[in-house]
Amino acid sequence: MKNTSVLGVPISMINQRQLLKMIDDAVRSGQQMTIVAVNARKIVRAIHEPEMKRLLMGYDVFLADGLSVARAAGPMTERITGVDLMEEICRQSARTGAKLFFYGATEENNLAARKKLKTAYPGMRIAGHCNGYEDEDVVEKIRESGADVVFVAKGTPLQEKWIMKHGKSTGASILMGGGGAFDVLGGKVKRAPGFIQNMGLEWLYRMAWEPKRFQQIPELLEFRRLVKKEKSR
Ligand code: UDP
Repeated sequence: MKNTSVLGVPISMINQRQLLKMIDDAVRSGQQMTIVAVNARKIVRAIHEPEMKRLLMGYDVFLADGLSVARAAGPMTERITGVDLMEEICRQSARTGAKLFFYGATEENNLAARKKLKTAYPGMRIAGHCNGYEDEDVVEKIRESGADVVFVAKGTPLQEKWIMKHGKSTGASILMGGGGAFDVLGGKVKRAPGFIQNMGLEWLYRMAWEPKRFQQIPELLEFRRLVKKEKSR
């Protein structure tokens, strides 16, 4: 798998179908693979914070999570959102039997996500779960559950740090950060309709629902400015 780069952060040149096959292969062979969903905010943070850059560089697969990132990465890169990939992994688990562990979000939202997904994909295998506000014994819990795939949905940079620090010790093949994915998959946070996503305005939609996200505007503007500058070179 090749990577391209957006403002110095790698982005994997891969489509969702290829990635699901790689995930299946890794689970079957017991090989470990870490996946990070890269959006404009993470890239801007990586430019300003060496620690964030170092963290991101430790990953194996870099999803172009945002439309603006996918566009900046070029035509060989497909946009793959963390939420969509998580759902597809659940669908695939119903076919392959891969065991999934859900770590993150509040107890209520974690449960809601598992319930909705299990209803949609009854054959999927849930190895275990833990809310994202508990840190003690989580690694043990995951190890004992025999999970093949761990979704870590604790927000950035908590989840990226957790995966880098504890990923190996969990014994799982796939470790993937998910941000607020359980909130979305459980139906607690609304996702923008398809046409708004296709217009690249999902960020604006999310801000309207969660006004605290307005703080992110300067980072998003900086991302646009830097991409324009890089392209004009
Ligand atoms: N969260 C968590 N543990 C924490 C802090 C946050 O599990 O200590 C969860 C929170 O409940 C929410 C998610 O992490 O489900 C963060 O979602 P957000 O969309 O803000 O993620 P980001 O924008 O950082 O990717």
